[in-house]
Amino acid sequence: MSTIDTLPPLREVLTTHDLQARKSMGQNFLLDLNLTAKIARQAGDLTGCDVLEIGPGPGGLTRGLLAEGARRVLAIEKDRRCLPALAEIQAAYPDRLAVIEGDALEIDPLSHLSAPIRVVANLPYNVGTELLVRWLTPKTWPPFWQSLTLMFQREVAERIVATPGSKAYGRLAILAQWRSDARIVLQLPPEAFTPPPKVSSSVVHLTALPKPRFEADAAVLSRVVAAGFNQRRKMLRASLKGVAPDIEDRLLAAGIAPTERAEKVDLERFCALARAVAKP
Ligand code: SAM
Repeated sequence: MSTIDTLPPLREVLTTHDLQARKSMGQNFLLDLNLTAKIARQAGDLTGCDVLEIGPGPGGLTRGLLAEGARRVLAIEKDRRCLPALAEIQAAYPDRLAVIEGDALEIDPLSHLSAPIRVVANLPYNVGTELLVRWLTPKTWPPFWQSLTLMFQREVAERIVATPGSKAYGRLAILAQWRSDARIVLQLPPEAFTPPPKVSSSVVHLTALPKPRFEADAAVLSRVVAAGFNQRRKMLRASLKGVAPDIEDRLLAAGIAPTERAEKVDLERFCALARAVAKP
């Protein structure tokens, strides 16, 4: 089988650098370089793009991104045990890979990147969800990124692309679909990873829209949606009581019956509600 570069196979890299996967770091590695190249291709044409990769681990996906022609990759990794393996990749791709050791939730990578920027990551799902929400809710739009290509547990991926009325529909669907086109582009069984996790995974690709689908303030929309879905079985007049004292009037102004439940309200009406709530 052909490989995507001349570096050693990833199993050998794990042995050489004694990289036992740690549960505490959410480590489930991708060791098949054909698969990591395939994931990198889901991010679109990378030539001429800087790529921000979060959680490179031993560097399987990093190698895929470089082999697929990324102009530069900036990788942020929390586990310092992975750095020697990443240094070998740096040596094979001079000037195209930069690595920062640290927690992606605390590092602002923007000073190291030039537009156009695409984000690609295979992260522990809790860190991934937190970062996704941050990337989707900056105060101004368009954001620093053109696209996000992210691995999630299948159940989380389904929440990102869910439609009203489905069980998976909630905050993630609204925030993602408000400002981006979101699609599941690849499904991966547990055996694709070492060690295999308990559940299947999916790669979600989100492309930033030039402007949000409907007008709304990001912070207000986030607040309304979080409150609405926090008690998803309750009627909105009850679940949103804390959002505004006259919430029934504001629901009506947005064209939503106060007796409606959050899971039935589409994106357009949630944005109308955010606008009604933002009014003095
Ligand atoms: N991308 C590699 C791959 O596909 O084989 C590793 C994936 S593994 C699921 C997640 C990686 O994210 C691990 O290398 C882990 O150390 C790293 N990680 C976990 N939390 C992180 C954080 N807060 N900031 C940066 N990296 C983190």
